[in-house]
Parts: sequence; C-alpha cells; structure tokens
Amino acid sequence: MFSFKILKRSKLSRARLGVISTPHGEIETPAFIPVATRATVRTLESREVRDAGSRMLICNTYHLHMMPGEQIVQKAGGIHGFMQWDAPLMTDSGGFQVFSLGFGSDHGMGKILKEEPERTIVQGTQPSSVKITDDGVHFRSPVDGSPLFLGPKESVRIQEKLGADIIFAFDECPSPLADEAYMRTSLERTHRWETTCLNVRKRSDQAMYGIVQGGTFPHLRIESANIIGALPFEGFGVGGEFGYDKRSLRRMLGIVNDVLPESKPRHVLGVGHPEDFSYIAEGGGDTFDCIAPTHYARRGVVFTSTGRLEIKKRRYLTDQKPLDHACACDVCKTYSRSYICHLMRAHELTGMKLTSYHNIHFFNARAALIRHRIANDEL
Ligand SMILES: [Zn+2]
Repeated sequence: MFSFKILKRSKLSRARLGVISTPHGEIETPAFIPVATRATVRTLESREVRDAGSRMLICNTYHLHMMPGEQIVQKAGGIHGFMQWDAPLMTDSGGFQVFSLGFGSDHGMGKILKEEPERTIVQGTQPSSVKITDDGVHFRSPVDGSPLFLGPKESVRIQEKLGADIIFAFDECPSPLADEAYMRTSLERTHRWETTCLNVRKRSDQAMYGIVQGGTFPHLRIESANIIGALPFEGFGVGGEFGYDKRSLRRMLGIVNDVLPESKPRHVLGVGHPEDFSYIAEGGGDTFDCIAPTHYARRGVVFTSTGRLEIKKRRYLTDQKPLDHACACDVCKTYSRSYICHLMRAHELTGMKLTSYHNIHFFNARAALIRHRIANDEL
C-alpha cells in the first residue's frame, strides 16, 4: 500500500528527507523522476534507467492513450508489465498535453517563462484547436484529426487501466498568458474536476495526487492549496508556471507547501534542471520530473560537475577524458569524450544512448547529493 514517511525535517528550510512506499517498492526523497513519455525513457531500456539510479518514472497518460491505447497496456499487465519496470511509477493526468494543444500552440509557448508576459488570454477566451467545457476538453487528434474528449472521469479511467502506483487528478494547466480573471475561473473548474476524480476512482491500490494551480498569483496559489489540501488525496502535485527566476520557484513552492498538509508528499510537475534541485528541496518539494536530461542528451548537451558540455564540438574529437571525471556512471567509466563526440557527429544512435544514460545518472546523483546535504544539516 501507499505511504509516506518523513525521516528528517531540515532546520534551515522546508526541506525534508522521506520515503515513499508503493506496491512496487520504495523511493527515497527528495528524488528526481525521469520522464518516460511513451513508456520509455527515450533511447534507454528499463533496466538501463534502473542501473542509472532511477527508482520511479512518470509516464504520460495522453500519449499512451493516443498510442497504443490503454487497453493494450492493460492487457500487458499495466505499464509495469508492458515496459518491464518493476519499481514505482506515476502517470500524469493528460491535462498538460491537451492544453498544450490549445493555448500552448496558439502562442508557441510552454510553461516556463523567460520574461513577464503580456496577459492576452482573458476570461472567456477559448483556444483555437480545443474547446474547454465544464466536463472536460474537446480536441482533435493530432494523428488523424478525429474529434476526441478528455475530462476528469476519462483521465481516471485511463490511468486506472495504465495501472501506475501514483496517478494525478485532472486539471487545467492554464497558459502563462492567462490574466487573473481567467486564472480564477480556470482554478474553480480545476477544483471541481479534481473532486470528480476522487469520486470516480475505483482502484484502492493506486495513490491519487491532487494538483495545485494558480500560476504566479500568490493569493490564488494559497487558495488552491487550501481547497486541494483539504481533499482526501494521498499526495499533491504543484503544477503550472512559477515565475521568472529560480528564487521565485522556491518562494512559490514555499507558499503552497506551507498550506498543504505537511505529512503528505509533494511532487513538482515538469521542473528540475540540476541548478533547481536545491530550490525545490528548500521549498518543500519531495519529487520532481523533468525531460531535460534526455532532451538535452539527444542534442549533444551533457551535464557535468563543472557545467554543461556540448559534446558535438570538434575539439572533443581528440579529448580522451570521460564526459565527467567526477561521474561514477558506466559510460564515464568506459568511454572517452572523443568516442562519444564522434558518435554524435556521425548521428549514430549509440551516441544519444550514451549521453542519455550519463545525464540520467548525473541527475539522480545530484538528487542523492541533495538528500546527503539535508541529512548533514547543510540544506
Ligand atoms: Zn557519467
């Protein structure tokens, strides 16, 4: 069964050391959660992801619903059996992807902002390619254009078939361009949807996390945390945009986590570059997921203890050192920058696999360092 135990609370910040227990094992927190969008951490096998130090993955409900469909996955024994991952798993609600098809593609942006946006999405606005109603979202399949619908009931039904240990309530992930009035309406809708998710869930072996939204408006964040925090979820996700710099991430998480029940785990959705880890932990986050390690790896960007390295650059062709001298991963123990540089320049798939493995290992090792620092009263 699902449980969360706090082993230690920091005296310096909101950080805590904990253990999440699930039917498929335990995970120490704070922890980085790699993204296995279509039931794979791109380029890597499940056992490699595990060898690289990962203890939990998050898969994408929307993508698995579109392809191959939840029935196929269910027949294979859920995602665990399907991808041969015998450890904890999360699925997101699918909301973020559906909304990305709407305002996200209208305005060509995701949820991380570089600067203060012009808030051009006002109350009552509908995105061009999706239609939001009280029951959910109508949208068109990006595959064949056929009409589709996803709402709280559908999201829970799909996630129960996918069978992850932790599932998320369906929420609207509003665009960073939304003004306050839009954000408030969206928040009220999200709160209704999340209550529906609790009411329609059938599986008692899956934990359900409620999601706090509210964007960069602190009073909306507090309101959302109060409402969602009072509902009988096993844990909580904090979603949406956090602001324009790393400190606002910590501040906004702190505001939310001061309201949420202290004894339940918190997951920060879609955030987690290595330089963010300490801010997330200090803000009271327990787990967090981010596509960065594999996304960058496939483009030849390697994270190291001395910063990022663009391994495709010609100068690395003659560099016999490992990617990161301080890294204990199998790739760094075995291969040189020279070899990996050559593979990436030659567009060999093995190059992407090696950089992905190293980056995942690096992110996991960074999270382990955060746990070590909390244990030693340094964070
Ligand atoms: Zn390495």
